[in-house]
Amino acid sequence: MPKTNIMKMRLEKRCVICEKRAQEGIMIASSLICSPCEKAIVQTEETDELYNRYVEKMKSLSSQYI
Ligand SMILES: [Zn+2]
Repeated sequence: MPKTNIMKMRLEKRCVICEKRAQEGIMIASSLICSPCEKAIVQTEETDELYNRYVEKMKSLSSQYI
């Protein structure tokens, strides 16, 4: 896949956590997590609401690929 297509795809992606359009982030199972959310998740304790939300999102995302 050409690099330009990857960039275009990433620019059109919405973050799966905050559901905002993100220009930067990490891709997990073709879903984007924007940089601010990624940092928040890394810094988040296991009991935090955001972490639980992230886990739920990941479960629903991964279930699409099983
Ligand atoms: Zn986000």
